[in-house]
Amino acid sequence: MSIAEVGRLDLPGFAGTLIHPDHASYNEARRVYNGMIDRRPALIARCNSADDVVLALTLARREGLPVSVFGGGHAVTGSAVCDNGVCIDLRGMKDIRIDSVARTCRAEAGLNWGEFDAATAKHGLALTGGRNPTTGIAGLSLGSGSGWLERKFGYVCDNLISAEVVTADGRKVIASETENPDLFWGLRGGGGNFGIVTAFHFRLHQLGPIVLAGALMYPAPMAAAVLRNLRDFIRKAPDEVGVGMVFTTAPDAPFVPQPARGKPIVVVQVIYIGAVDEGITMLAPFRAFGPPAADLVQPMPYTEFQKMGGNFPGSQNYWTADFLNELPEEAIDAYAALALTPLSPQSAVILVPGGGAPSRVDEEATAFGMRTAPWNVHYICGWTDPADNAANTARVKQIASVLKPWSTGRVYLNYIGNEGQERVDAAFGEKKLARLRALKAKWDPDNVFRHNHNIRPAAAGA
Ligand SMILES: Cc1cc2nc3c(=O)[nH]c(=O)nc-3n(C[C@H](O)[C@H](O)[C@H](O)COP(=O)(O)OP(=O)(O)OC[C@H]3O[C@@H](n4cnc5c(N)ncnc54)[C@H](O)[C@@H]3O)c2cc1C
Repeated sequence: MSIAEVGRLDLPGFAGTLIHPDHASYNEARRVYNGMIDRRPALIARCNSADDVVLALTLARREGLPVSVFGGGHAVTGSAVCDNGVCIDLRGMKDIRIDSVARTCRAEAGLNWGEFDAATAKHGLALTGGRNPTTGIAGLSLGSGSGWLERKFGYVCDNLISAEVVTADGRKVIASETENPDLFWGLRGGGGNFGIVTAFHFRLHQLGPIVLAGALMYPAPMAAAVLRNLRDFIRKAPDEVGVGMVFTTAPDAPFVPQPARGKPIVVVQVIYIGAVDEGITMLAPFRAFGPPAADLVQPMPYTEFQKMGGNFPGSQNYWTADFLNELPEEAIDAYAALALTPLSPQSAVILVPGGGAPSRVDEEATAFGMRTAPWNVHYICGWTDPADNAANTARVKQIASVLKPWSTGRVYLNYIGNEGQERVDAAFGEKKLARLRALKAKWDPDNVFRHNHNIRPAAAGA
C-alpha cells in the first residue's frame, strides 16, 4: 500500500479523528513547538482512547510504517511527528480524575501541565510539573520530569504509582511496582522507548492554594555575585525552596524597571513550598542580597508562577544541557560572562540546583540517569529567522562549551535536541544503559518506538 493510500485509509472502530494530509487541520495538527521541524506524517491518528491507540499502532505495524507519539509536541527534537508514518496523537485524551482523599489522580496522556495543574489546584493539590503550562505531561514525565516542586516532592516519575500502557505488539498492560515492574522501572526516565502510555496514576501533594513565589531581577553584570549567593544559599536551604537562575533579556513589560527593558538581565525564579509567612522569613536574607533591581516575589497561586517562564512556540529552537559536578570560582566567572550577551531576545541560559528529594532516591531505583548532580545547566535558544539557524546553532554549542570542564558527562535528555546516539547512551551510564537495552529487547525488540531519544534493543543473546 502506498503512503498516499495509507493517508486516506479508514480505520474501522477508530473513535477519534483521522487527519489525512488533505484534511483542513493537517498543518495545524503536525505543528510542534520547535519551528525548525517540518515533518509530514502519512496519517495523524488523533486518539480518544487506548483502544484507538491499539488500532493506530496495529495499522502502522501491518503496513511497516514509522510510528511517532504526540503527547504535547514540546520535545525540541520534534520527535512527536515523523515523515511518511503514523503519528499517534494523544491530544484527544485529556480526562483527569482526582481522588482528593487518597491524594492521587488518573490523568490521560494528552493533557498538558496547564490543564493538569488547574485540575489539581481545585483540590488544593499539586505534583511537580513542567515549568511551562503548554508542555505535555507525557513526554515530560517519561523523561523523569523536573519542575519547581522537585526538591520537596521529587521528580514527576518519583510520584508515578502506575501507568496504563499499549505495548509495541498492541497489548494493553499495567506497569506498577507489582505488575510488570521491569517496565515500570523503565518508564521512569527511559522516555517513550517501551510503550505508549495512555494514562498515568500519580500521587499528589497538598499545596497552597497560595504560595510565596516570583522573580528577582538583577543587572547582567551582577551575574557572578548573584550566582555565588545562590550557590551558598542553596547549600543550606530546606527542600521547600525551589529555585532557578536565568540569563535572558528583560521583556518590555510594565513590571520591569524602564531602563532595564530589552537589556541583558539575570532573573532568579524562586518558590517557597509551605506557609507564606514561613517563606517570607526563610527567603528574607536571599531576597535582600544585591539588592535586586526588582523584587517580584509575592503570594500567588502556584498556577500563576507556572506561567512565568518564557514560551515561544513556533520559533526556531536549538537546545542543549549538561549536569555539572561542581561550580568552583573559575566556573562561576566563565559562566557569568554569558549573561552579558544573550543570543537573542528568546534565549535563556538556565541553571537549576539539584539536591532535595530526588537526590535521596536510590540511583538504581528508576531508569533516570543522574540524581546526584548539584547543578543542571540548560541552554534554551530560540529565534525567529531560519536564515540564522546555522550560525545560532554553532553559537549555542560554543556557549555550552564554557562549562564542559565541569560536566559530569551525563545529560538530562528532556532538555536536548538530536545530539547523536552517543549522547543518549551517555545520559544513562554504561551499567544502566545495558539494563535499558535488555528491557527494550523484551518490550520493543523491533524498535517500533524509535522516534525519541532512542535506546537500541540489545542484540539477541547479549
Ligand atoms: C517551553 C518548554 C518548557 C519545558 N520545561 C520543562 C521542565 O520544566 N521540565 C522538564 O523536565 N522538561 C521541560 N521541557 C522539556 C520537556 O519535558 C520535553 O520536551 C518533553 O518531551 C515534552 O513532552 P511532550 O509530551 O510535550 O512531548 P512530545 O514532543 O509530544 O513527545 C516527546 C517524546 O516523548 C514520547 N512520548 C510522548 N508522549 C508519550 C506517551 N504517552 N507514551 C509514550 N511516549 C510518549 C515520544 O517518544 C515523543 O517523541 C520543556 C519544554 C518546553 C518546550
